Amino acid sequence: MKRTRISRVLASEEIGSVFTVMGWVRTKRESKGGFSFIEMNDGSCMGSLQVIAGEDLPNYKDDVAKLQTGCSVRVKGTLVASPAKGQRVELRADEIEVLGWADPEAYPLQKKRHSFEFLRTIAHLRPRTNTFGAVARVRNAASFAIHSFFQEKGFVYVHTPIITGSDAEGAGALFRVTSLDLAQVPTVGGHVDFTRDFFGSPANLTVSGQLEAEVYALALGDVYTFGPTFRAENSNTPRHLAEFWMVEPEMAFCDLDGNVELATDFLKYVFSYILEHCGEDMDFFKRFIDPSCIETLESLISQDFERLTYTEAVEILSKAKVPFEFPVDWGSDIQAEHEKYLCEKVFQGPVVLTDYPRTIKPFYMKVNEDRRTVRAMDVLVPKIGEIIGGSQREDDYDTLLERMKELNINLDSYWWYIDLRRFGSAPHSGFGLGFERLVQFITGMSNIRDVIPFPRTPGNVSF
Ligand code: ATP
Ligand code: MN
Repeated sequence: MKRTRISRVLASEEIGSVFTVMGWVRTKRESKGGFSFIEMNDGSCMGSLQVIAGEDLPNYKDDVAKLQTGCSVRVKGTLVASPAKGQRVELRADEIEVLGWADPEAYPLQKKRHSFEFLRTIAHLRPRTNTFGAVARVRNAASFAIHSFFQEKGFVYVHTPIITGSDAEGAGALFRVTSLDLAQVPTVGGHVDFTRDFFGSPANLTVSGQLEAEVYALALGDVYTFGPTFRAENSNTPRHLAEFWMVEPEMAFCDLDGNVELATDFLKYVFSYILEHCGEDMDFFKRFIDPSCIETLESLISQDFERLTYTEAVEILSKAKVPFEFPVDWGSDIQAEHEKYLCEKVFQGPVVLTDYPRTIKPFYMKVNEDRRTVRAMDVLVPKIGEIIGGSQREDDYDTLLERMKELNINLDSYWWYIDLRRFGSAPHSGFGLGFERLVQFITGMSNIRDVIPFPRTPGNVSF
């Protein structure tokens, strides 16, 4: 089956040439002169191709006249300049074949706009809408840009495990992986006997590839991971998923300043790529989702990111004349409302916060000389809040052990991680970017469930 994508046909200069296109009918209307106008979309771009079908087609009555929204068709036709406004070219059909019918009584995607809530219940059909088609294409372009950015800089893409034996860093609640029969779980002394489980010990889905990425950074220099991560946190928010994709670069011989610089360059690169390659989709988001989305990206690319310490941020926040739900005092975590206040009200742009109290950050972050703070960095952006979390890692053997003991971490399951600090330890840094938060930020989509094809959230795994 040979076909030309509609994106290419719409951009074609070859008036008079014959093309075969395949796609789905968005709308069809009949005009007086014995013609049907069919809007066809094949997902290759936002735009639809207008097909003109005349009554003289042999199957006009049997097929063309019965076409409805959602049907899939093959059209062979001649490209002509369009007399109508809003499109440059259209296709005059010589042949139309219906590949799949769609009963209009049953097909849920008719002309009118549907709510995103409703579309979540038909995740198998929602990619055929303008919004979800655009999200899918932007997601694709952003993934590609992420790989290009790191590859151009000489980073090595490392595949870290999805199933892990360590409960990595306590970044969130874990999903257990088991092949035990849950109706007959073996026990010893009242506890589950994991020696009889598949791996002979407890196993979980990873919450982050960072610890394993550190292993490779301390051998290959600059590496990154880009894979799925899982958190069983019961947070029903518009920015949390149980399964999401994370980008995690890790760099040997790199301190916090280098880390901030990479994070900034990285975001700017991805945003520029999207503006350059997804113009039509971004115009759609600007018109229908978030009028400021393009401007926001443009200003981010040209702006320096404001950088301040946690301590400075707390000072600003404690003087703020707005009623926060969560109080701010030194030592408590910065909440989403505070992050947004800093970005939207105080600095009107992205903010990098560094040097958080050690008590609220994980064991692997490097302790500063003051012993009270760690070399953490969070990148905050308007509307979303935290989009990147990272740090310089603790590379000192004794300090790492002390931190792990302080946080009651089982040293046995991290022996390899600790070992890295015994043999050729080196300063190193990295960060994690939630890929869906990035796509949310780019598109202006307000719910994270609408920027991943099949969202996994508490109570929802069906499809
Ligand atoms: P938050 O406070 O927003 O829950 P976090 O502190 O748990 O974030 P990290 O553990 O630092 O986040 O994870 C790195 C990045 O992964 C975050 O900056 C964010 O972009 C993304 N992220 C974290 N949790 C989720 C989630 N449940 N769904 C989607 N993205 C997430
Ligand atoms: Mn979290």
